[in-house]
Amino acid sequence: MTHTHIAGSLHADYSGIQPQWLQWPEDLNALDAKLWPRGTHRDDEGRVVVGGSTLEDLVAEHGSPSYFIDEADFRSRCADFREAFPGWKIFYAAKSLLTRTIARWVAEEGLNLDVTTMGEMRIALAGGMPAERLGFHGNNKSDEEIVFALEQGVGRIIVDSFHEIERIEAHCEAGGHKARVMVRVTTGVEAHTHEYIATAHEDQKFGLSITGGQALAGLVRCHHSPHMELEGIHSHSGSQIFETMGFEVAIRRTLKLAHQFKTATGVELPALDLGGGFGIAYTEADTPKPTGEIAEAFEEMIAHECRAFGLRRPELSIEPGRAISGPAGVAVYTVGTVKAVELEGNKTRTYVSVDGGMSDNIRPALYAAEYSAVLAGRTSDAEPVLCRVVGKHCEGGDILIRSVFLPGDIRIGDLIAVPGSGAYARSMASNYNQVPRPPVVGIKDGTSSVLLRRETLDDLMRLDVGE
Ligand SMILES: *Cc1c(COP(=O)(O)O)cnc(C)c1O
Repeated sequence: MTHTHIAGSLHADYSGIQPQWLQWPEDLNALDAKLWPRGTHRDDEGRVVVGGSTLEDLVAEHGSPSYFIDEADFRSRCADFREAFPGWKIFYAAKSLLTRTIARWVAEEGLNLDVTTMGEMRIALAGGMPAERLGFHGNNKSDEEIVFALEQGVGRIIVDSFHEIERIEAHCEAGGHKARVMVRVTTGVEAHTHEYIATAHEDQKFGLSITGGQALAGLVRCHHSPHMELEGIHSHSGSQIFETMGFEVAIRRTLKLAHQFKTATGVELPALDLGGGFGIAYTEADTPKPTGEIAEAFEEMIAHECRAFGLRRPELSIEPGRAISGPAGVAVYTVGTVKAVELEGNKTRTYVSVDGGMSDNIRPALYAAEYSAVLAGRTSDAEPVLCRVVGKHCEGGDILIRSVFLPGDIRIGDLIAVPGSGAYARSMASNYNQVPRPPVVGIKDGTSSVLLRRETLDDLMRLDVGE
């Protein structure tokens, strides 16, 4: 193996296979605070402690792999948004992670909740979230879902098409309901994020286009509907956005639309929702802005645009999902095999196989999401080696972490902790290869409680009702 000097240390040559953003690690045992639940540290024996318990003890109790959610961290991120955005309504995006207990935490923290399906509505309500604090999203809501939402009295329905407007009106007429609605618009913003998670550019399935005129037509249509009370405009630009620039364009275009609506109807829209998408750190290379800074930038832009268009400041809301649930969650896996693969140019990539994979975190395979990892059960002074953490599924793309430095003495039985796993991991999990899905375990002050139990083979067998 060839060796090179970087920053004074002697190590293997990974040029060409080491991504540019991935730095040679100063200290493999260090825990970068921006990645982990607040207060995460190593104890005297080098074991990672989250929410007052070592991950080793938690795995001994709950098994591997598991998702551990630090309740205090989750709640503190709710509080961050509440405090940074005083007077705003904060809707936690249920799709990032939802159980009944989490719905309760969100309700207790004074936040509202975004839901998209019957399943999310039912779990939110079962967790004690009042219906009037729900925002109901979706580009293809079923009649059953619309009727249920109207009967329960959800706070707002975010309408996404003219067909949906007609369907809501019909159900309001039949059931004697009045629907409070917002109109989801596409602003044409090209948020700098992966194509599949950018949602405000024109050529995709969500919302009504501002530039095409459908957005204004939809707003006017809802305004004149005897069955609807129009709250205002909804815009969601995408996910994992780091620059407030994307939001700036969305703010300008939605308020310009509000101005056009006022010109057309003589009425000012009372509310504006700017969606979610606040980026979090999955690796050291990610640098999310503090919530307070985002809030300040938003306030400034909104004040500026309202002045420019002669509008009163609307009632404002945002919908963070991953920024609350993501950093609160840690996934823990157990190493099953370690394999050094020789590549061209005398390079070696170490494949570390764990007991989960794309069934419990599809994001790396789905949109090339990056993650980081550390050894959770011990520290090591071994030389860092460039690893690829892969799962147990029959699929070459079953990659959890494409590139990460781990200690060269990594071995079977080691625990690997992946921060940032609270959002969109369990909620997008599948049973690929008939693998039961891992549990979601809440942790707090050294105690743990199962929020969502581990699936069993019996669960899978029970679904299989064929002869
Ligand atoms: C997904 C989604 C969110 C939350 O996105 P995050 O990236 O988790 O903040 C908010 N609003 C809408 C409409 C969404 O579809």
